[in-house]
Amino acid sequence: MKNNLEASKLWESGLQNNYGTPNISLVKGVGASVWDVEGNEYLDFLGGIATNILGHAHPKIVYAITEQAKQLGHVSNLYSHPKVLELAAKLQAMTGQENAKVFFCNSGAEANEAALKLSRLTGRKRIVSTTGSFHGRTIGALSITGQSSKQKPFKPLLKNIVFIPYNDITAAKKVISRRVAMIIVEPIQGENGVVVPDFGYLRALRDLTKKHGVLLALDCVQTGMGRTGEWFGYESEGIVPDVITLAKGLGGGLPLGAMIAIGDCANLFTPGSHGSTFGGSPIACASALAAISVLESDGLLARNKSLELTFKLELSKNPIVSSVRGSGLLLGIVLKNEVAKDFVLKLQGVGVLANATSDSVIRIAPPLVVTDDQINKFIEAFRKVAQTHER
Ligand code: PLP
Repeated sequence: MKNNLEASKLWESGLQNNYGTPNISLVKGVGASVWDVEGNEYLDFLGGIATNILGHAHPKIVYAITEQAKQLGHVSNLYSHPKVLELAAKLQAMTGQENAKVFFCNSGAEANEAALKLSRLTGRKRIVSTTGSFHGRTIGALSITGQSSKQKPFKPLLKNIVFIPYNDITAAKKVISRRVAMIIVEPIQGENGVVVPDFGYLRALRDLTKKHGVLLALDCVQTGMGRTGEWFGYESEGIVPDVITLAKGLGGGLPLGAMIAIGDCANLFTPGSHGSTFGGSPIACASALAAISVLESDGLLARNKSLELTFKLELSKNPIVSSVRGSGLLLGIVLKNEVAKDFVLKLQGVGVLANATSDSVIRIAPPLVVTDDQINKFIEAFRKVAQTHER
């Protein structure tokens, strides 16, 4: 394959058309930089869609994966192995709850599927979710995804799902009752354009769900693993959810998801209830442990909180920007005009990868190892492209 055009042609002849055809083909990455097949360098501010928490080819992750692959590759869950035990203990400690227990899978949709199945075992069937939410593409996860355009072609979906507006505790009060098994909410709606609820929303949901014995599931697939400056993205509310779902950043770039259940609901699954052949594989867990260890030792969570302020301050100086919302390194740049898609294409043209979650919102989710110099380059590139729209 010689160039991007040839890659696009091969994509069209060999892959299904569910993503559209990518116009560049990436062959190499280091930290927050990637290179395409023609040797062009890009600043990767999308990070594999908020996934590459330590960027590309982090030496500690490369080492961990390589050593693990030499030792033991895949065993299934009919056997235990040291890395899955260590990672479960680590995640348990990160929740601060000794009675947290982990189920490992391979993706965010699977983590939410596991949460759905867990909730069925409470004996209640109704699920509450929020409009605008995104929880994945499998039939179960899609059923609780509050975006009708994504659901419509695949109906009928699961029944007994009630959608309420996000960040609306009055609406939640109207539907949360003893008939509800679980409410699932994102601490920040990432795919919906990095929509941040009011402080106190999650706490109010916690109080409400507790009163009615309803499971509170927090989908931290996108906010998790330090991206917002906290491990999972809800901690500043001072609450303990019943269920946490994770994926994206968890595997340090490898496919790994988790559904963490806390308290009584952690004992609902019994042998045969649920499973995954690959979930919690030695190599993915080794990668996750290496990523967590670097996040801790390099103090990256605290740093990313201060980077949030830099981005918000600098990007807001562009007249085309109406606001910059989000937390840590999960940010939505809201434009005054509906030019986000064109803007993102132009950014790519000047060597920056980001994505538009709608016509007016650009999302950035760079790796937590992004350097100050790379941030300055991004801000400058953004300014240049913004000027072309302001003229
Ligand atoms: N939940 C949230 C909050 C997400 O942002 C996503 C993906 O964007 C998912 C679930 C689905 O994750 P996956 O694509 O790994 O199935």
